This record gives sequence, C-alpha cells and structure tokens, in this order.
Amino acid sequence: MNNVLKKESSTQNYHKLMKNGREIMKKLISIILIAALILSMGIIVSAEATVKNGTTNADVAKLQKELNTVLGCNLAVDSIAGPKTIEQIKIFQKMYGLVVDGIAGAQTWAALNKAYADKIASTANNGYLITTTYNSPHIVTLSKSKDGNKYLTKNFQVKEFACNDGSDAVKIDYALVQRLQQIRDHFGKAVVINSAYRTAAYNQKVNGASKSLHLTGQAADITISGVSLASIRSYAYSIGLTYGIYDTFVHVDTRNIASPSSFNGDY
Ligand SMILES: [Zn+2]
Repeated sequence: MNNVLKKESSTQNYHKLMKNGREIMKKLISIILIAALILSMGIIVSAEATVKNGTTNADVAKLQKELNTVLGCNLAVDSIAGPKTIEQIKIFQKMYGLVVDGIAGAQTWAALNKAYADKIASTANNGYLITTTYNSPHIVTLSKSKDGNKYLTKNFQVKEFACNDGSDAVKIDYALVQRLQQIRDHFGKAVVINSAYRTAAYNQKVNGASKSLHLTGQAADITISGVSLASIRSYAYSIGLTYGIYDTFVHVDTRNIASPSSFNGDY
C-alpha cells in the first residue's frame, strides 16, 4: 500500500515537473520571439539615411568608403557629400542600372551595400576564380588565351588544365580543382598535371577511353615529385576522387565524389 502511494506521488511530481518544463519553454519561446522582433526593428531603424548634395551625416562617410572600394575612386572620407561624392554616386548609379540622380536613397544604398560586400568577398578570396566549395561536379568552359594565367585556386592556373593539343577552349571541373588543391596542401608539394581536359579528337589520338572523364574536364593525370603514386592514390580516394592505377602517374576524377572507386588503367 505504501509503495503504491509512493509511486502515485512520484508520478504526480513527474507531471508537475513536466508542466513546469512546458511553461518554461513557452516563456523562453516568447522571449526569443520578442528579441527577434526588437532585432528586426533595429535593422530597419538602422538603414542608411539618404545622401544628396550637401548632406553631412555619419552615413556619408560609409557611402564614400564603399564607393572608393567598389569604383576604385579616391574620395576623401570626410562625411561631407560635395560635388565629387555626388559625381561618383551618379557613376555608380549608371553602372548598376539605377536612376541617375546623384541621390543615394534606399535602392542605391541596397545596390551599393551589395556591390561592396561582393568586392570584399572577392578580395578576401585573393581573386581566385573558385569562390565556393563544390561537392559535386561543376564544369565551366574557359579560354586558354584569355584566362590561361588566371588562378582557379591558390596553386592552380587555368592553363594547366588545357588540352595538350593546344586548343583554346578548356573544360574545367571546379570540384576537381578544389580536390587537387587539397592534394597540393596535404603533401605540401607541387602537383604536376600531365593531362587534364582532352578534346574528343585528342582523346582519340592518345587512345583514351571513349567515355573518358578527361572529355568533360572531370579528370587529371598527376604526379608529385618525391611522393609515391600509392600515397597519392590513397589520399585522393580519401577526399572523394576515383583513381586509376598506372605505372607513371595517378589518374583522378570526380565521377562519384560521395562514393569514389578505383580501376586499373585504360579508362
Ligand atoms: Zn586519366
């Protein structure tokens, strides 16, 4: 009998606790909602003020700084919107397809803030062509003559992926390049690309497989001086690259990054 009572009272305590818990949760949720509301109001309130000829508020300095970065102009950041600042506002508005009135209102501010953020992001990336992480093939076609010297990542230039027959168009899979850069960083040594993109004609000439992933820019045949082919294969596989075993190089490709495999030559 005692035991039954004890059990009942502990069950009651449990329900009481649960009820308290739910109430605390409700309160927490209300607090979070109110905080979010205040925060979003704050963002609206803190939107930049309109800047026109003669404006002298704190946002003018912000505008001058952003224009300097986006346009590469050299305005004095003095919080005074004089003729020079207005002229640059007009240049910006013309470039970005806005109404060219020399007045930075909501639309000009939105475009300028975005252009500024983009510029900062691309500078942070040191101007490399690849700016985001790709976990599946992302194939682009570039030009060896126009883009050859551009860096895709820290250590790889576009020209390294061009077809060995000298043709201008280069297909490059950004997911492959990022993984080659990982290999480069892992071993701390230059990755030599013997062959990456192949045109159909060139692929035939070198007796490549008819469905070779070199045709889509998704494959590279590589070596690293002083690193065994077995070490390269093993690391490449660990980062999602399928490898092909050859005597003098390692073939790597992005056919299935989520589930890489391997094969013996002739592919
Ligand atoms: Zn290959």
